[in-house]
This record gives sequence, structure tokens and C-alpha cells, in this order.
Amino acid sequence: MTIARGRVPEDRVGTTVPSFAALTDKDGVVGYGEAAPSPRYDETADSVVAFLERVNPYQLSFTDLPGSLRYLESVGSRNYCAKGTLNLALLDGAAQLAGQPVHRFLGLDFQEGRHVTSFSIGLAAPDVIRQKVTEAGRYPRLKLKLGGADDAAALAALREVAPHKPVRVDANEAWKTREEALRRLEWLAGDGNIEFVEQPMPAGADPADHAWLKERSPLPLMADESYIYAGDVERCAAGFHAVNVKLVKCGGISAGMQALRAARAAGLKTMLGCMIESSLLISAAAHLAGLTDYLDLDGNLLITNDPFRGVGCRDGWLSWAEAPTSTGLRAGPR
Ligand SMILES: [Mg+2]
Repeated sequence: MTIARGRVPEDRVGTTVPSFAALTDKDGVVGYGEAAPSPRYDETADSVVAFLERVNPYQLSFTDLPGSLRYLESVGSRNYCAKGTLNLALLDGAAQLAGQPVHRFLGLDFQEGRHVTSFSIGLAAPDVIRQKVTEAGRYPRLKLKLGGADDAAALAALREVAPHKPVRVDANEAWKTREEALRRLEWLAGDGNIEFVEQPMPAGADPADHAWLKERSPLPLMADESYIYAGDVERCAAGFHAVNVKLVKCGGISAGMQALRAARAAGLKTMLGCMIESSLLISAAAHLAGLTDYLDLDGNLLITNDPFRGVGCRDGWLSWAEAPTSTGLRAGPR
């Protein structure tokens, strides 16, 4: 998929990143984790492997999550994606031992029939956009990547096929000044069916510019690249109306839960997003759906070599009804 920053590997997981890790306890219970590192957040396949090689698995235990997570923090700072991989595996194992799906293990609810994901349309020529929007006909929400050479042509192509469908826009930091961003937002507001706009300006822009834009924007603004983890909440509350939490940005399910709760406590709307991921990471995120207002969990729909089966997605609506019957993440190898 192409976004404002460039091309993101797609179609297959594991071709550019080592994707999966497993923890096994003495009784043979296996917890799975997945990494989808992004250079945007200073993590690569090599940095994830280097971090995992420094971890002593004997310091990790499905029956001592707080101790295990403290140990992971002691191995090194940052490395959120690498830590998140083991956080998923630990929670998968712990929830299996408790005989519960992860959301219940964490005291959260998941209501069937309530959680719908958007389907992403990358930067492309108008004829490609028309084709992709046609193929995505069964999804009730679309996310359109903008910040390309001709945004007006891209949106027009989408609207030729789906005139009134609710659309979320993601500029991926493309609009470099607050004035340019405001012009684009005013243009987008004229569409009438744009739900919100993700990350119009670079995360590194002056916080005063983000606040200036929030004050004037005719559409809700969502922080993605600006919101890594819960510690960013104060800054984001000043410049955005909502945040996009991704498990690989913040460090897994535990940190994702903190990031969502911190955002809600600050009065922000919340979304769970994803990278190009298998059903393992997507299922892990889906367990936190009860803490969100929006979902953008389509990474597993964009690949052709998903080795896992997990949360189902029928016409965009997420469901555990046909997930593997084991507990934990309720995602299992195909
Ligand atoms: Mg985004």
C-alpha cells in the first residue's frame, strides 16, 4: 500500500520482517506473539531480533505478568514493537491458563455486532482507486490515504463509486504547514461524509501549530504518528480530537489498554489501528475494541499468506463467533 510517506510492504507478512514469536511453558501451553516493526518508529526486523536475543525467556512467566513486563522493561528502553511481541505471547498464555479470551481476562467486554472496521484505500491513480473501492463494496466504512500528487482526483474517484459512504481520511503527516492543512480540511469538509482526518501535519510540527489547527478545523482531527503511547496524551489533547492506538507503536496489549484509557480520560475519542499484520495482531487488538469509538483493523484483510485464524470479519463487522475455540487470543495457526 502506498501512503504519503512512501510504500509500505503489503500482501505478505514475514517477507520483510520476522513476524512471529512463541513462548511455551513447562506444561506445553503456547502463547503466540507477532511483530510488525515500522521504520517510522525506529524499529526494523533487525532491531526486533536484536532485542529478542537479549531476552532471557526464563524470566518470563504466564503466571506472573507484572513481573514479566517489569523484566522486559529492564532489558532496554523503547523497542515497543519488540516488547509488544512478547506482551501478546504472555497475555495469550496467561488467558489460556485462566480459560478465558483475553478481553475477559482483562476485565473488558466485546459486544458482537457492535464493532466495524474501515477498509483502507492507498494512494493510487484514479482508475486503481475506482477498482479498489468497487472491490471494497461490502465494507461500510472506507479509509482513504491522501497527501499524494492529486488528492482531489483521488477523492473524486472514490466518490464516483461510493457517493455517500462514510470515509476516514489519513494524510500521514503530508501537509507541511498549518495553513496548507487548514485549506485541505476545509476542502474535505465540503464532501459532507468525511468522519475525521488522521495526522494532517507532521508529528514533529510545532505543538502551537497543532493547537491552531484544532481550533479552526471543520473536521475532527486524529493523532496517529503523534500518539505513540499513553505518555503522549497531554500533548495530543491540545492538538487533536481523537487518537489512533496501534499495538506495535505502544508495546502490545497492556500498553494499548493504557493508551486507550488515558485518551478517554482526557476526553479524546479513540481508534485502534494496525500495520500490515496477520490475524494474530489483529485479534490481539480486537480484544480492546470495547475501549474504542472506531476501528481500523484491516491489516489481515490486505495479506494473502495469513498463517493464523482469529477474529472474524464479515462485511467489516468483527466477530469471535467462528474463531478457533481455544481461549487466550482465540487466534490459532490455520
Ligand atoms: Mg494513520
